[in-house]
Amino acid sequence: AAKKGGASQVVVFEPRMLTETVAGLDMLADLQRALHQDDLELHYQPLVDLGSLRPIGMEGLMRWTCPRRGLVAPAEFIPLAEESNLIVELGRWALGEGTRQLAQWLPRFPALRLNLNIAPRQLLDRDFVPHVADVLRTEGVPAAALTLELTETAMMKDPDTAAHQMRQLKELGVNLSVDDFGTGYSSLSYLRRFPVDELKIDRSFVGSMNQNPEDLAVVRMVIELGRALRLQTVAEGIEDADQLAVLRRLGCHLGQGYHLARPLPAQAATKHLHAHLNSRLSHTARAA
Ligand code: C2E
Ligand code: MG
Ligand code: MG
Ligand code: MG
Repeated sequence: AAKKGGASQVVVFEPRMLTETVAGLDMLADLQRALHQDDLELHYQPLVDLGSLRPIGMEGLMRWTCPRRGLVAPAEFIPLAEESNLIVELGRWALGEGTRQLAQWLPRFPALRLNLNIAPRQLLDRDFVPHVADVLRTEGVPAAALTLELTETAMMKDPDTAAHQMRQLKELGVNLSVDDFGTGYSSLSYLRRFPVDELKIDRSFVGSMNQNPEDLAVVRMVIELGRALRLQTVAEGIEDADQLAVLRRLGCHLGQGYHLARPLPAQAATKHLHAHLNSRLSHTARAA
């Protein structure tokens, strides 16, 4: 029933969150259904050693094919899911799926590692660490083969809890990576406070470093910082041969990007590994 009385007050509804809009709620409902209907998939983008140019691991990236909407990009549905606890469920799904796949790869590719993206809410969830331990045990995957990618935002939201969770993950033997490094606004001192193993240079810097000297300076600085703090450095979003050459010259350890390999469905990712790791000819793929 409509509100009685003659109130002439106009309430302007200004949604601040995606889940405060009809479209957002609608998509959230579809996403919830996708999780239970198996409409989610994990694709895998090779992580390439920039010295040998061989793949040393994969990053799992979520894909959602909605019967109504078609393929929906993570940039659309991850932020939405992050507003609710659904991200925790999605994250559990990705951890299970990725670890199962890794268990299938490891007998053929024993040194392979898997990187998975972890949302802030997931890291701060009190059940997260036992859940990771549980999944690794169930799938028989060594913790050292798993790297969890966290963002600065996840760490700075609740630094005490984040640091505590991260220490526990390190105790399990899991590796920790800072994703999209350089895009946050936190101070560098947090790198000493949190037990991280790896820095992933955001693709916004890599993509423009050969046109923009300031972006190149950032890339160079992160690689040097990694060297000084003994952290592995990974460059994201390598799209051409010039970027690859510069990053190799700067001594960046690992790289990812369309120029090296796109994210691939599980089967194609397996083929990629066979082609690049088992072939006798693969050494000819080494760059001069
Ligand atoms: P991210 O973790 O920084 O992943 C890198 C993104 O860059 C991926 O986009 C990848 O497909 C894309 N990319 C890789 N190489 C290139 C390149 O050379 N050029 C360009 N332009 N892009 C490249 P994607 O798969 O659309 O994922 C976007 C973001 O969604 C991810 O960024 C990550 O933050 C989030 N995400 C994806 N899967 C998951 C997941 O399972 N859990 C969580 N929490 N977040 C996820
Ligand atoms: Mg990532
Ligand atoms: Mg990234
Ligand atoms: Mg990024």
